[in-house]
Amino acid sequence: MLFGNRALTALVLSHPEASDIALTKLKPIVAVLDDTPILAEAELKLLAWATQYYLHAPGEVYFQALPTLLRKGEAAAYRSAPYWHLLDAQAEASPQAIKQQQALTLLRQGPLSSGELQIRGISSAILQALAKKQLIEKREQVPAASDWRGTRLLVAENDKPRLTTEQALAVSVIQSTQGFSPFLLEGITGSGKTEVYLQIMETVLQAGLQVLVLVPEIGLTPQTIARFQQRFSLPISTLHSGMNERERLDAWLSCRDGSTAIVIGTRSALLTPFARLGLIIIDEEHDTSFKQQEGFRYHARDLALLRAHQLDIPIVLGSATPCFESLQNAATGKYQLLTLSQRPGTATVAEHVLLDSKHVQMQAGLSPQLIELLGQELGKGNQVMLFLNRRGYAPALLCHSCGWLADCERCDAHYTWHRHPSRLHCHHCDHQRALPPVCPHCGSQQLIGTGLGTEQVEQALTGLFPQYGIIRIDRDNTRRKGSLAQHLEGIRNGQYQILIGTQMLAKGHHFPDVTLVAMLDADGALFASDFRATERFAQLYIQVAGRAGRASKPGRVILQTHQPEHALLQDLANQGYRHFAHSALQERQAAALPPFSFQALFRAQATDARQVQTFLQQLAQQLQPQLPATVLCLGPLSAQMERKAGQYRYQLLLQASNRRALAAACRLALALIDTQVSARKVRWSLDIDPVEL
Ligand code: ADP
Ligand code: ZN
Ligand code: ZN
Repeated sequence: MLFGNRALTALVLSHPEASDIALTKLKPIVAVLDDTPILAEAELKLLAWATQYYLHAPGEVYFQALPTLLRKGEAAAYRSAPYWHLLDAQAEASPQAIKQQQALTLLRQGPLSSGELQIRGISSAILQALAKKQLIEKREQVPAASDWRGTRLLVAENDKPRLTTEQALAVSVIQSTQGFSPFLLEGITGSGKTEVYLQIMETVLQAGLQVLVLVPEIGLTPQTIARFQQRFSLPISTLHSGMNERERLDAWLSCRDGSTAIVIGTRSALLTPFARLGLIIIDEEHDTSFKQQEGFRYHARDLALLRAHQLDIPIVLGSATPCFESLQNAATGKYQLLTLSQRPGTATVAEHVLLDSKHVQMQAGLSPQLIELLGQELGKGNQVMLFLNRRGYAPALLCHSCGWLADCERCDAHYTWHRHPSRLHCHHCDHQRALPPVCPHCGSQQLIGTGLGTEQVEQALTGLFPQYGIIRIDRDNTRRKGSLAQHLEGIRNGQYQILIGTQMLAKGHHFPDVTLVAMLDADGALFASDFRATERFAQLYIQVAGRAGRASKPGRVILQTHQPEHALLQDLANQGYRHFAHSALQERQAAALPPFSFQALFRAQATDARQVQTFLQQLAQQLQPQLPATVLCLGPLSAQMERKAGQYRYQLLLQASNRRALAAACRLALALIDTQVSARKVRWSLDIDPVEL
């Protein structure tokens, strides 16, 4: 389509015979890129609904459902690309090279691209080694649509474990339900939720229908994929942010034409068209990465429910720590609750210990008591995991002589001091600069870090336990493609005994030899201002705790805190998530906060704070008198961090007891913004059901 003299790619949603718009104002279509519609009725319906619900520009919503290459005008067709092929189906790699064996096993099921192999834990070095031995080769190939229906489904029937009573109940309840039915599978970590997924998937796949499994952003590891691949001898596709544009398009096409049976993907996979979708599973449904935080701010869980409803298929939300919205939906009967309260076999549930940090001489955030416990576990040949949600060496750099602090010029935030490589790094705007040699204020050389980051913990532990392998897992040392997989592999094969990480390490991984898990600093979450902070902390705590004692070895969870008597911590350590959630939900109800009310947030930002304030103040003033009593308008207030990347940020919160009233208020506000001159001087956005205020 031509806009001025720029050709843009557009979607044609309908083509009426006549239009109210003058012919001179209508843009001509220059070329038709696809002969057949690229999105089917079902997806169009979903996107139309999403546009209405999120009150977002349709262009952005519809384009969100398309791979980048299609947005750029590429045809919706497979194109030849390099794939690895097995040269000799009976090929055996040297028995020591387990990874090479795995690669051959995978390729025995069909050719795969380097990217597909990488996400399954096979590095390019392994592939090169196999190519050198002339066991595999890379060949250009156009992937063809395939029909897997009626083929052998299971890899090995006798690999299926005998279900526990709870698992068997969950499976039979789900299998006996027809059509749309949402289930909340609440199962403690290690209780075998994935086994439930696998068994219900079997029936659906048997019927020739596809399955979509949504996982959190960093939950998609080779381990995850391997579990599905070990069960089903069917084509599995992944969809995640680490793929290149061509890989994404190919995966998208194979969902759409039905050639793939199982799709494992992150948030945006939900918007992919499917030929025959029969079941949606959302693992770790409480995870905030399912909410898109920019542009079209949709929640994949909520849209997944809608999609399941529209297609009249079952949907399973699984978590050890369901979000409060889902718990409430289960309580009101909107979801059917299924519980797994026990771990199968001999796996035991971890013991929780609160260590008081008051008056204790800490060494890089480690109390002597914790150091002793770490030594004991390591001495027994076990692994230990230390958890701190702050990467870098120290969260601030300070002058010991005059008190100067290294602050980011563009944010209301301190720079984080990193030592590997050495730099000051703002975690909010990503700005980086060299470490000043002396204090820019007083010239002193005594610049010191204050507070604790993962690099510092790593350094301290290297000094304390030089005889053990230490690995740190955070965003800094997993940036390189495939490096997270490599680190995780090193943990599994015993190369490392001490694991240090941010929440990246807490999610979904299964490490059988970890017997002690320590959260170094739990105090921050207890005093945060967001009303969801305690819910999030509780989820993280249970996730972290779930890393201990997953196999037959008993585990211990240690929490270092200055507030060991704090009700929240006591509740979590002694009674568990469900108990905590129950009382926390009552507090939410008393305060009329979500899930007992609904929110929408107008965010605005500009380099000039006054322009942002003026815009939101005017909006609030015009809106207030027109709102019914059921809708509250709060603000404008500054965002939690008022200035970020040079932008001043303010927000206006709308809260209502029902969705309809909230949507009406939002529409009214949008109409007002249309007429507001001050709106043109700021960047604003609307976030329906915000998860972060
Ligand atoms: P979750 O997803 O709830 O954290 P998993 O599905 O990862 O739990 O199961 C934890 C471990 O228990 C896995 O190693 C899994 O293979 C094993 N497992 C699951 N169900 C059974 C069962 N019925 N019998 C024996 N082992 C099981
Ligand atoms: Zn100074
Ligand atoms: Zn910054």
